[in-house]
Amino acid sequence: MTEIGIQKSEKPPQFPLPLRGRVRVGGIERSSLAGLSRKELAEALRAINVEEGAIKMRVEQLWHWIYHQGVIDFAQMKNVAKDLREALAAAYSLARPEIATQQVSVDGTRKWLIALPADNLAQKSHHVECVYIPEQGRGTLCVSSQVGCTLNCTFCHTGTQRLVRNLSASEIVAQILIARDDLRDWPPERGENRAITNVVFMGMGEPLYNLDAVTKAVTIMADGEGLSISKRKITVSTAGVVPQIEKLGKGTGAMLAISLHATNDELRNQLVPLNKKYGINDLLAACRAYPGASNARRITFEYVMLKDVNDSVAEARALVKLLKNIPAKINLIPFNPWPGSNYECSDWERIERFSEVVFNAGYASPVRTPRGRDILAACGQLKSATEKLGYRARTLQAE
Ligand code: SF4
Repeated sequence: MTEIGIQKSEKPPQFPLPLRGRVRVGGIERSSLAGLSRKELAEALRAINVEEGAIKMRVEQLWHWIYHQGVIDFAQMKNVAKDLREALAAAYSLARPEIATQQVSVDGTRKWLIALPADNLAQKSHHVECVYIPEQGRGTLCVSSQVGCTLNCTFCHTGTQRLVRNLSASEIVAQILIARDDLRDWPPERGENRAITNVVFMGMGEPLYNLDAVTKAVTIMADGEGLSISKRKITVSTAGVVPQIEKLGKGTGAMLAISLHATNDELRNQLVPLNKKYGINDLLAACRAYPGASNARRITFEYVMLKDVNDSVAEARALVKLLKNIPAKINLIPFNPWPGSNYECSDWERIERFSEVVFNAGYASPVRTPRGRDILAACGQLKSATEKLGYRARTLQAE
């Protein structure tokens, strides 16, 4: 035993983190502490025999270094005793998941393809995408919550990829760590003037089908002692998993966005097939009851502009009528084409006319400028290489 009560050992401890949290460092498989909750960090410390009386204080120290300072080496944790730093480094890592590829758009949008471990060693990596959109005075990180998606929204590229698996909370949080590393968005370089100010769950997957992990991830990213992203700046977007909407509000306090895209069930059934299960009336009732919704915390309704499908003035009027008495803002999204899609983007004049009707009814109706189109990073364009890698991965395993 050392003076701080740590038993030194040659072998990493048997810490019960899932396989997908582990990385190989120096030929030994170690669990990464990056992305873990306070409770999991406490377990990690207990597993290397840190005295119970010191656990709370040590967790706070780790939390500060991992989530506020963004360090990737235990040696940088200056106020942590040397013995403990060595014990941590022998047992764990602070590694992030690997970046498979990275692209930067002409407009400054960045997209990372992130490789995540598969569920078991027989499989190859899975991939998810994460996108950073810089804007004047702020920056938004769009994160994924699943590899692939089950919902098959017909205008969405991700929807053409089958669901592979849910992400863990630490894998969701790791997307922020990766982006902050790459953008040099930690205090030594940035101070408190951060590049990433907002987070939206609008990447791959349906967040409400992975609600436990999403709730845990939001709690970690909103913690004021760490990543410190205000809950008012975290938005979770759903295609309309009605039974989970209240639970999302109560569990996270995050802002809600609804992928609406149509004003009647017949059309929405085609665009968002989940609508056949939870129709527009039920969806809007859940929105009216969303915990904390108010004029200061409006629900965002996303409406993709599809040429001659949902973009008439009559539909703009129907939209306004539908959202009556809901504290709402409406995001009009020019459709972003992707290879093989059956839709076209509405003409600009039509988008303007639609926007005018919505604006005249008293709603803010920003038309979202398409970002990162050249790197397929815009809304609805994300689709990872997992599916494409599938055949190659299977072939390699057979070799
Ligand atoms: S829009 Fe969202 S829910 Fe629909 S298929 Fe795409 S990723 Fe899935």
